Amino acid sequence: MKNRDNFIPWIYHPDYDIPLPTNHRFTAKKHADLLSLLMKSEISNNSRVFQPEPANKDQIQIVHTKSYINKIEFGNLSKSEENILGLPWSKELLKRAYLDVNGTLTAAKLALKHAIACHLAGGTHHAHANFGSGFCVFNDIAFTAKNLIHECICKKVLVIDCDVHQGDGTASICSDEPAIYTCSMHAKNNFPLEKINGDYDIPLDDEISNKEYMNKIIYMLDICNKEISPDLVIYDAGVDVHQNDKLGRLKINSETIMKRDLAILDYFKQKSIPICTVIGGGYSEDRNELAKRHSIIFNAAHRVYCAS
Ligand SMILES: [Zn+2]
Repeated sequence: MKNRDNFIPWIYHPDYDIPLPTNHRFTAKKHADLLSLLMKSEISNNSRVFQPEPANKDQIQIVHTKSYINKIEFGNLSKSEENILGLPWSKELLKRAYLDVNGTLTAAKLALKHAIACHLAGGTHHAHANFGSGFCVFNDIAFTAKNLIHECICKKVLVIDCDVHQGDGTASICSDEPAIYTCSMHAKNNFPLEKINGDYDIPLDDEISNKEYMNKIIYMLDICNKEISPDLVIYDAGVDVHQNDKLGRLKINSETIMKRDLAILDYFKQKSIPICTVIGGGYSEDRNELAKRHSIIFNAAHRVYCAS
């Protein structure tokens, strides 16, 4: 599938960043940092930034229970629910949750038009139908896949989740939808302790080499190709597999993450299957370094869709 317009849609909203206590593991300014790094790069000449609207409640109810949505809406989470979520409730968090899910859906719709689109957020794959978990309020991946099917925009959607943590929320929410195929490649000893089987799970040992990691990526693409012919791929390009990630446990270097992203994008470009990407997890106290890691998928997309 050719990117006829020679630009890649980037989806971003200034309200993606939320106020957090200092030393919180989630880097509060990571989305703005990423945009600012990308805008300084030459690849921004081949991009156009789109700002999503907040999702509406009806769309969210396709994925989350009414009672959970109300708890988020009115800030009624119990202390233990807030602990499992890992983020303190705030009006800003509420706003962000509504924007983020629709940011990924917007990216998906733009990808269907332009072959590729990259969200500067997303990957909130630990959110379940009735509770938030691991910094994820609503599940943007399940939200996008299910709404695309519900609106009859896609017949089949493939989710490829390469965040270091298993996409448990996505697997659980999408388990009743045969039109969505969920694939997660993750560190087996990492969060969440209790994994929820998706359609295809690839648990990784902490000691996996960069070479073996890439071999598993290539093998995974072939399995997915045999199992489903999707109208769209949603790709979680999490960079918490990085060797210096605070929460990752794996020893994957930046070069291999670039190879991974190029291999995945190129694979679906060759098959003329549109792909939208989300940034997924990435944790570091060094804000520049983290923005650099998250920028890899944007550079890979530029190389695959604009430079060739
Ligand atoms: Zn993660």
